[in-house]
Parts: sequence; structure tokens; C-alpha cells
Amino acid sequence: MNLKQKQAKLEAIADRIKNREVEIELAKTCLNPVPGEGNANAKLMFVGEAPGAQEDKQGRPFVGASGKFLGEMLESIGLKREDVYITNIVKFRPPENRDPNKHEIEACMPILFEQIEVIRPKLVIFLGRHSMNVFFPKLKISEAHGERIEGEVALEDGSKFMQNFLPLYHPAAALYNGSMRKVLLEDFAKIPKILEIIKN
Ligand code: URA
Repeated sequence: MNLKQKQAKLEAIADRIKNREVEIELAKTCLNPVPGEGNANAKLMFVGEAPGAQEDKQGRPFVGASGKFLGEMLESIGLKREDVYITNIVKFRPPENRDPNKHEIEACMPILFEQIEVIRPKLVIFLGRHSMNVFFPKLKISEAHGERIEGEVALEDGSKFMQNFLPLYHPAAALYNGSMRKVLLEDFAKIPKILEIIKN
């Protein structure tokens, strides 16, 4: 698929989300759906949990305090937000920032798989244990953070492909915790090396 085709496919997916064509209550209660945004040819795809208040207001992922820190971390490895693709497992804000439930996650997963299939990033980066545990339920973020994992993505049509993943702590966890911030920055600094290893 060339860039134009990828962009068109991502836009079609985003339109379905913006039109709230997902069978969950959150799609009715949120202010603005948050499909995701970024480079359709991105090597890196970041996956958070669900939109918060700022994201819900603007219809864009990671635009609050966590997003600001994510931007700083991207800069630390020479990247801008526009270079990567940023999205969440759940595309609609859960009220009061509660965690999304199993039903809400299951309803949104096929969309995320479609986005991964279109972009086919070199690395899918989980921001936080919640998004990691959707793919790898048994892993603990305290043990898995900063280590590449190979896994399978299974699409609804039965097809499958291998994908590289990298779990990181959620930027929100590091906002008011200096040692966590350091760990997250150190893990982030491994990304260029991991991309190099994947390429070879
Ligand atoms: N936290 C998330 O997990 N996702 C966002 O988009 C913002 C904050």
C-alpha cells in the first residue's frame, strides 16, 4: 500500500469512529471520539489506554499533560509527533476517567487491529500496563517495560501477522515521580536501537 492509500484507509476508519459507529455506550456519552492521528507510514505507533478530559474536548490523543511529556520524550530521540502515529485502545472517553471495561475494550479492539494493519509500524509501543495487558494479559509492566516482545496480531478475517511490541510505563505515571520519569526516558532512549535490531 502506498502512502495515499494508507491515508485514505486511516481516514475511512477515523470517519467510522467519528460517526460513533461502535456499539458501546461511551460512543454516545463522550464529547468527541478520538480516533488517533499521525503519520500513516510511521515506524512507531503509540497506543495508550483511553482519551482523558483534554482529549475528549479536542478529539485528539495525548494532548494533555501526559501528551506534553510524550512530546518531550519523542524530541529526546529526535522525533516529532507528526513522525509517529498515536492512538488509544478505546477511542471514546470513559466518564470520570474510569478504566475502560472488558466490553468497551473488546468493542474497540478490531479498530485498533485495522489501524495496525494499515500502518504496519515496525514497533507498536504500549503506553502503560492497561494497553499492554490487552495484548499480553499475563505480563507485569514492572518486568516487561523497555523490552521488545514479538507477538501475533489476529484480524477478524482470520489472517494473522507478526508484530514487534514495546511496553513502556504510562507518561502520566512519570509526571509527578522523578524516578519513574528517569526510567521512562531511559526506556525511550532504547527505541532507535530496537528499530535498528528489527531492521536487521
Ligand atoms: N492517557 C491515555 O491513555 N490516552 C490519552 O489519549 C491521554 C491520556
